[in-house]
Amino acid sequence: MTDITCKLLVIGAGPGGYVCAIRAGQLGLDTVIVESTKLGGSCLNVGCIPSKAMIHVAEEFEKAAQAAAGATPFGLSVSAPALDLKQAVAWKDGIVQRLNNGVAALLRRAKVKIVHGQARFSDGKTVIVETETGPKTISAEAVVIATGSAPVELPMLPFGGRVISSTGALALTELPKRLVVVGGGYIGLELGTAFAKLGSKVTVVEAQERILPLYDQELTAPVAKHLEGLGVTVLTGAKALGPTPKGDGLRIETADGKEKSLPAERVLVTVGRRPVTDGLGLENLVLDMDGRFIRIGERCETAMRGIYAIGDVTGEPMLAHRAMAQGEMVAEIVAGERRAWDKACIPAICFTDPEIVSAGLSPTEAKAAGRKAGFEIKTGQFPFAANGRAMTRHAETGFVRVVARADNHLVLGVQAVGQGVSELSAAFGLAIEMGARLEDVTGTIHAHPTLGEGFQEAALKALGQALHI
Ligand code: FAD
Ligand code: NAD
Repeated sequence: MTDITCKLLVIGAGPGGYVCAIRAGQLGLDTVIVESTKLGGSCLNVGCIPSKAMIHVAEEFEKAAQAAAGATPFGLSVSAPALDLKQAVAWKDGIVQRLNNGVAALLRRAKVKIVHGQARFSDGKTVIVETETGPKTISAEAVVIATGSAPVELPMLPFGGRVISSTGALALTELPKRLVVVGGGYIGLELGTAFAKLGSKVTVVEAQERILPLYDQELTAPVAKHLEGLGVTVLTGAKALGPTPKGDGLRIETADGKEKSLPAERVLVTVGRRPVTDGLGLENLVLDMDGRFIRIGERCETAMRGIYAIGDVTGEPMLAHRAMAQGEMVAEIVAGERRAWDKACIPAICFTDPEIVSAGLSPTEAKAAGRKAGFEIKTGQFPFAANGRAMTRHAETGFVRVVARADNHLVLGVQAVGQGVSELSAAFGLAIEMGARLEDVTGTIHAHPTLGEGFQEAALKALGQALHI
């Protein structure tokens, strides 16, 4: 017996799912969203938002500590800072709570029905939800799987006790004296940097030859250098073997094959995320998979008609803004619009210190694309050391780099590394999405003094017309 019948059922209220449901509601579709935990998903509750809140706390603390140590060149002095980590965590939780309420209000305004419980497919059109008041059967014309991802657990280092995931790290109310981070990717470095700034002695154990292997070395070098300055030990080419016999740290194999013990109050494991499909009843469907992820086409359709998948459950890049863009598109498709994935780029940001932004193609990727399509590329780079705003912020590390076609000057990629460059991602993404040429960027008046002028100057440099270097 069916309890609820609807046009669109969305499973999972993370950024992918809730945006899909809101858009569907706005388009007049009779929409239901099911969520087993809290509205907002990983991003809002244990990911993007809480991590950026704690990164902010750490930045403020470090600034105060530097001033107390007389380390600012502009003569600021304060007494040594003290942090009540419990209060910081409560402040972060307050932001999350406000945003949870915000998502609920937006869904209500779009007339989306929210069902709390664990969803499980019984067939392609029917889902059973285990709610607090018993099972509910929902029948839908279209279903969107937006069940997201969860931290990967290493078999020799299961979560529990001293071994924590990012979720545990964001809830710590006592600062670990020594923190070992396994995995020098996004989460490991964002959170590892924050803990180092707060005063933990941090060691990063990364299996690959360098940290953030996803970004090119020119971009990651300033991050590696700053980690050194913060006293973070980075062990690359190293493998985690398991806890020490007494359970007071981590045994690792270093790059030269030697075994070593790293004592630590906490071991933070951040070696990637896996799709959440357990208990979803996928065995009752016939979906194509891409490893453990759900395979989708350019309309986010799965192998079964009427079933769509969006966000982290569909694989890399596992970014909130990709999930949201997919969600919006699928809602429009279900409403009958002709849509397909046509985005020119998905900007990526690593909120380390300095921050890294990458939109579109890196020079290496652009060269490879050029070899296939028969074009050459040109690049232009502008250092923040020559940017007035960076100087006045006492943040001169880093640069903006533009990658363009040599023949028609079409901008193919823009990258930057530097303090505060995350906010430049919108300009970079817009330029690529609008099909800007170098001349469009150089011909736009960029307000002075701003970090954004670095973008204009990098484009000028690519054209051989740099003004300030
Ligand atoms: P999720 O956000 O994971 O949401 C899925 C939802 O589905 C969850 O609420 C879950 O409870 C629910 N669900 C699962 N199964 C069921 C079921 N059977 N029934 C009902 N409900 C179910 N990305 C960025 O773009 N920028 C960042 O700065 C950033 N920082 C991050 C920091 C950390 C520490 C982490 C862990 C992640 C970060 N991410 C960031 C990644 C980002 O959180 C994810 O890409 C994003 O949350 C994916 O959205 P989603 O909707 O696909 O899934
Ligand atoms: P990641 O893929 O960014 O990094 C994992 C790192 O762990 C890699 O460098 C990998 O080489 C290393 N690794 C893997 N196995 C290892 C092992 N056994 N020992 C040592 N190192 C090992 O994964 P993550 O940091 O867990 O983040 C997961 C996802 O969440 C990311 O892919 C990203 O999409 C998303 N995220 C995004 C942001 C952001 O947008 N700013 C922030 C956090 C997370």
